[in-house]
Amino acid sequence: RRHEASRRAHEPAVTRDGTAVLVGVNVGSAADATAGLGADLAGLVRTEFGFLDRADAPDVDEQEAAYRALAEAMGGRRITLRTLDVGGDKPLDYLPMPAEANPFLGVRGIRLALTRPQLLADQLRAIVRVAHDHPVDVMFPMVAGVDELAAARRALDDAVDAVGRGRPEGLRVGIMVEVPAAALKAAAFAPDVDFFSIGTNDLTQYTLAAERGNDAVAGIADALDPGVLALIAATADGAGDDVLVAVCGELAGDEHAAALLIGLGVRELSVAPGSVATVKQAVRDVDLATARDLAAAALACPDAAAVRALLR
Ligand code: PEP
Ligand code: MG
Repeated sequence: RRHEASRRAHEPAVTRDGTAVLVGVNVGSAADATAGLGADLAGLVRTEFGFLDRADAPDVDEQEAAYRALAEAMGGRRITLRTLDVGGDKPLDYLPMPAEANPFLGVRGIRLALTRPQLLADQLRAIVRVAHDHPVDVMFPMVAGVDELAAARRALDDAVDAVGRGRPEGLRVGIMVEVPAAALKAAAFAPDVDFFSIGTNDLTQYTLAAERGNDAVAGIADALDPGVLALIAATADGAGDDVLVAVCGELAGDEHAAALLIGLGVRELSVAPGSVATVKQAVRDVDLATARDLAAAALACPDAAAVRALLR
């Protein structure tokens, strides 16, 4: 089975009954793009990697070079560049932040970017330059409200003006859905995005009030909790027919969860480089009607253990 999966890694992933599901690679370093062989796109580029372990922020030219190299490594496939996602829990020496009692509930993701307009402006400028030559998505992290998306979109428009070559044709805009309220308000965001990408790592931590990475509550922070699944379903409901729904959190890389996610309305899974082939193969085993039944049954489960039992 594993052999079959890797033999077919470069083929598109299509369900038994003909629904195409994109399988992307999550990129956290320049090397990941080449490691994600067979991926249809880079569905999440964690641009933080270009900002860590340095004395100052990379300038526009440096960022452009890094994103261009990634786009070239992906050889014409789309890259989804997530704007800088740092905050209280992931401090940068050159970005002094006031101490926060609850950094995960504080100034992180898009909240931080909007308080550092020059940092965001530089990054968006680099992204727009590359988007003139390659298919590029820009994605904003940790969005909670439509006002944040509007402000981020204004910053993007300003970057387009600053680069001065018009709006890049293939440039698409999306948000990460990782705050429960954003999932519930998906319909309010939908008119202003091309895609939603659900970050199940943070969405799980916020839904269950259980910090990711805290071993003492790891059993509670389970992405298969029916409460988390309900928020994925709500996102897909709010997205309607015109907005693509992706999952780029770790749940997307669980081959046993593929049918469930597809049944909930997800049409793109972005995963760690090592999981691309197996997730594509899992998609090929799905038929949509069965997947929808599975999703309905999972939503009716009392807990994650019951969902897991259903998936086996
Ligand atoms: C997530 O939260 O699920 C996600 C993909 O983003 P990160 O893990 O980088 O916070
Ligand atoms: Mg996240």
